[in-house]
Amino acid sequence: MFVPMKEIVDQAYAGGYAVPALPSQNEVQIRATIEAAAATNSPLIFLTGNRGDAMFNHYMVKRFAEEVNIPVALCLDHSPTFEDCVMGIKTGCSAIMADRSIKSFEENVKDVSLLAKMAHAVNVSIEAELGHVGQGDNYAVDGVSSLTDPQEAKRFFELTDVDCLAVAVGTAHGVYVGTPHIDFERLREINAACGKPLVLHGGSGSGDHNISKACTMGITKVNIVTDVMIATNQAIIKAALPDTDAKFFYKVVHDATYNFAKHAFELTGCIGKAVACQQKEIASGGDLVYKE
Ligand SMILES: [Zn+2]
Repeated sequence: MFVPMKEIVDQAYAGGYAVPALPSQNEVQIRATIEAAAATNSPLIFLTGNRGDAMFNHYMVKRFAEEVNIPVALCLDHSPTFEDCVMGIKTGCSAIMADRSIKSFEENVKDVSLLAKMAHAVNVSIEAELGHVGQGDNYAVDGVSSLTDPQEAKRFFELTDVDCLAVAVGTAHGVYVGTPHIDFERLREINAACGKPLVLHGGSGSGDHNISKACTMGITKVNIVTDVMIATNQAIIKAALPDTDAKFFYKVVHDATYNFAKHAFELTGCIGKAVACQQKEIASGGDLVYKE
């Protein structure tokens, strides 16, 4: 079933586990990931972007989600502009991630508060980011430059009505140059101060042990994309399909994606955690009253 992301992260927070947020770039990837989630009774979050083919992928996610009895959410990842966020809502995402992490605290609060009102009015969830998660290829600088302050995070939740918050605690996007160091003491302090669902970006290459530990400390959603790409590409190379067997390409991609997704559910602790979620009615403004 297709649900607002808030339902998934709230249940994860209450249960002390997390859910992986995985890519939805094509039909085979979407189908294999949903199959793995259904087979393991795991809740699932898909990530998407506002690319040209996004709307088709959104339709597929929603249609496939209706076929399974597990909660599935679709989150528009890293939306830096007002227009991006509105487009994400229009194209059927059940969550938007309003990334204002390079703006000042005040500007971040102002933008996210407005977007939270808009999103919640149509039963769409909203994630924001405080501190800034940088790039793995600049890890020596990005890994430590803008870590999240626990008290600021607490104030951010109070001021914005955001459903979950991405925090910078030492992870980075893409492939790490250097060894990732997660600041677990900072994460513990953020969780203690906020008591709300937190999100870890840059899950790829961060170390299985680190991910699993973070998922017991308030992290409810772990974004993992690069590792899915690596696992898929390695499977394609290993298969070394001859020209006449190119038809098996999609099976190779399917199986690699399926296996990785199962691994991600194990890592985050969400296997068996799918529960029946009732999609709430779209918020109504009440009866229309015409006045002339
Ligand atoms: Zn990210």
